[in-house]
Amino acid sequence: MRIGIIGAGQLGRMLALAGYPLALQFRFLDSTADSPGAQVAPIVLGPFDDAASLRKLAGDVDLVTYEFENVPVAALHEVAATRPCFPPVDALRVSQDRLLEKELFGRLGIPTPPFRAVDSLADLRAAVAAIGLPCVLKTRRLGYDGRGQRYLRRHADVAAAWDALGGVPLILEGFVSFDREVSIVGARSTRGETRAYPIVANTHREGILRVTVAPVRDARLQRAAEGHLQRLLDHFDYAGVLTIEFFVAGGRLVANEMAPRVHNSGHWTIEGAATSQFENHLRAILGLPLGDTRPVGHAAMVNFIGTMPDRSQLLALPGVHYHDYGKSPRPGRKLGHCTVVAATAAARDAALRKVLRRVGP
Ligand code: AMP
Repeated sequence: MRIGIIGAGQLGRMLALAGYPLALQFRFLDSTADSPGAQVAPIVLGPFDDAASLRKLAGDVDLVTYEFENVPVAALHEVAATRPCFPPVDALRVSQDRLLEKELFGRLGIPTPPFRAVDSLADLRAAVAAIGLPCVLKTRRLGYDGRGQRYLRRHADVAAAWDALGGVPLILEGFVSFDREVSIVGARSTRGETRAYPIVANTHREGILRVTVAPVRDARLQRAAEGHLQRLLDHFDYAGVLTIEFFVAGGRLVANEMAPRVHNSGHWTIEGAATSQFENHLRAILGLPLGDTRPVGHAAMVNFIGTMPDRSQLLALPGVHYHDYGKSPRPGRKLGHCTVVAATAAARDAALRKVLRRVGP
């Protein structure tokens, strides 16, 4: 069985690495020859929206999945017409537009910040009046890791935010004064079986995930997050891994966004859970029984952003697992991560402090 993965970044590479023990083979489609996936499987070189490249990938595999959220929906529809393609194209379509995503959350009873579509400066002024300050202006499409966002604190910020982002479809959201950010990663198989990992706590810096701590033990939040996840999975008749990111404010979950793919906040599952998110994604799209999602201890994951730390120093710490994606350094770029797993939360927290001292600011 050969699986085509659109996108050969680190997520694709970790999917392939999880698939080899299951006797799976892989082909990637990516526009960059030296992308992380190319180190572990052959790559079809070409843009994600190029019909000929997509045909070439699809023609060479039994099933197609994607690790990259900005694949054009029309191109993926073409692939799906010739090969089974999971997660469903409709989940990708909705996740590409923050307005459609929040409208769907609303229909499924998943709480969100207040939001309004913004297509003009007049819309923006009306939305600020309706939602109130502070608030966040975001591009509806192609925003990730905090890109394409402006915070509005005073009325004087409105014109500058419009000048910075205006001209493309936008969404204004109320600013959520959150206590923390959590996410839930779960899988649904083509047979309808679902499993969820425990919710995890995420810390971002400049909009980029920096640290994930797993698990968060809060039975009430876990139940709520699993309910929201299940409704989304069922809505899309989903197959694969799906992630929802939430703010926790006043003890309540408020959904920020979803990702129809394996997720950075699930990397800890490679060493910290009975079955990794990558293996469960593959099991899910192949209709195999899903693996146990229970944590095997207490884990923390630290992203390496912009520069790689000293490998020997980190590996000298007990319980640390090191992942280098083989990418060239660039400010703000995710180059690798490490995960520490310990028997208790206190031991994990102590180890995390040591890791953070070595990884640096
Ligand atoms: P996003 O690109 O939507 O994932 O946003 C990146 C980060 O910006 C989030 O993880 C939050 O830390 C912050 N953020 C985004 N939207 C809001 C909001 N409505 N209220 C408060 N913080 C936000």
